[in-house]
Amino acid sequence: MAKVSIPTIKLNNGIEFPALGYGTWLGLNDKMEFEITDARKLQDALSYAIDIGYRHIDTAHLYRVEPEVGEVINKKIKDGVVKREDIFVTTKVWHHHHKQADVEVAVRDSLRRLNLDYVDLVLVHWPMSISQEGIDEKIDHLETWRGFEEVLKKGLTRSIGVSNFNIEQMKRLLANCNVPPAVNQIEINLNLGQKELVDYCQSKGVVVVAYSPFGTMVPSRNYPDSPEPKMDNPTMLSIAKKHGKTVTQIALRYLYQRGIVSIPKTVTKSRVLENASIFDFQLDDEDVATLAQFDNGFRTIRPLFWQPYENYPFDVVPGQEHEDIPISLLKWKNGVNGDIE
Ligand code: NDP
Repeated sequence: MAKVSIPTIKLNNGIEFPALGYGTWLGLNDKMEFEITDARKLQDALSYAIDIGYRHIDTAHLYRVEPEVGEVINKKIKDGVVKREDIFVTTKVWHHHHKQADVEVAVRDSLRRLNLDYVDLVLVHWPMSISQEGIDEKIDHLETWRGFEEVLKKGLTRSIGVSNFNIEQMKRLLANCNVPPAVNQIEINLNLGQKELVDYCQSKGVVVVAYSPFGTMVPSRNYPDSPEPKMDNPTMLSIAKKHGKTVTQIALRYLYQRGIVSIPKTVTKSRVLENASIFDFQLDDEDVATLAQFDNGFRTIRPLFWQPYENYPFDVVPGQEHEDIPISLLKWKNGVNGDIE
């Protein structure tokens, strides 16, 4: 069986963090309902990922699949493929658990669903706090963060971090915390370089993790107004040919050379191998300069329905304030059968 060797990056707490992880968000369909049909494929692909050398898994309460993800991890431990301490597991706390005391409830629920004693990293999934009824709870994330510091102290997680925090939110959190966030997980890809936020986080020792690392390059994200590069972009194809790699590998390698960890998602085994086979070549200065030109600020993930909420982290697009939050992002049960609290 093919194997991959994924390097690690040291977090600010000294823990080694694999520079590429396996993403587990299966997405929403056209009706904004959760796409659970791929959960079994995800388990097969994740099982294969661990077999070939992935040691970092990114999940979340929101993704519904904590039970399936935990099942795979526990099987791999039972079968002797890995030890628990070899695997880095990230999960995330959703919007309706932002009160200080609720953080521990949320993390313990994730641990129960994952069937693990601890996770390696838990993230504030988004900076907004929204109840299951869609009410803006306006909880200061400094309060939420105190709950995070408590679960760290209790050993429910080895590291704590944030996701989707903008530069002002990062500055305020760093100035007012006891334990600094180890990670900020944000969207980064060829269209959305996030240079200022990445530079700031890295200057403060916060490791940046890129979600949606392919942006709209992949066919599943080929929206009518989405910009280049696509998979058949001539510039991308020419850089890929030069290195004997694929365009998606070029996109991931570019992130790695910026010191950014990426967490591509795929339920396709050949792509599981492809996405992690990026540590055996080097983009040169000319490639890097060419790739940097695709950065035009285009966001693949732009949840307009959260715009009116306090602490929404992105620039607001006018005229879109009244879209309702999809029910599937307010309240749900977990697992393929949707029957796990
Ligand atoms: P990705 O950029 O990882 O894209 C996933 C899509 O790309 C899937 O359709 C997949 O298809 C396809 N794909 C994967 N590899 C290849 C390849 N080598 N060639 C062609 N197509 C490929 O987007 P995600 O939004 O899923 O982001 C990755 C992860 O980041 C998520 O799974 C989740 O863990 C995390 N995330 C976090 C967010 C946050 O708010 N913190 C927000 C969004 C994501 P297929 O599966 O069919 O192979």
